[in-house]
Amino acid sequence: MPSSTRRWGAAAGCHHRLVDDDDWRLSSPGADLAGHTFRWAEWVRRRDDWDHDHCEFCWAKMTDLSKPDTDDHEYFSGGWVTAAASDGGRWVCPTCFRELSESLDLRATATG
Ligand SMILES: [Zn+2]
Repeated sequence: MPSSTRRWGAAAGCHHRLVDDDDWRLSSPGADLAGHTFRWAEWVRRRDDWDHDHCEFCWAKMTDLSKPDTDDHEYFSGGWVTAAASDGGRWVCPTCFRELSESLDLRATATG
């Protein structure tokens, strides 16, 4: 694990927002996912030459590689993917989903 991994607001037992209004992720390309519904999924490759997707916010990788070629990004074996087929499968890593779900109204569906 990269030692530079940043952690935001460990507000245990206190229900306030985990991110500031000027959190850089809120103005990232993924910010248009606000209000969308997501389902949890293990990442599976859809083509042989497609070995990862990126988190829409922090660019972490969702991959089935055990040692992905990452420099400073986290990677995960699964994540939150948009539930609506029309969204084309856009991925959000577990860290961003947890930290941004309140600010951006990201919704989780129970079914997978
Ligand atoms: Zn992320």
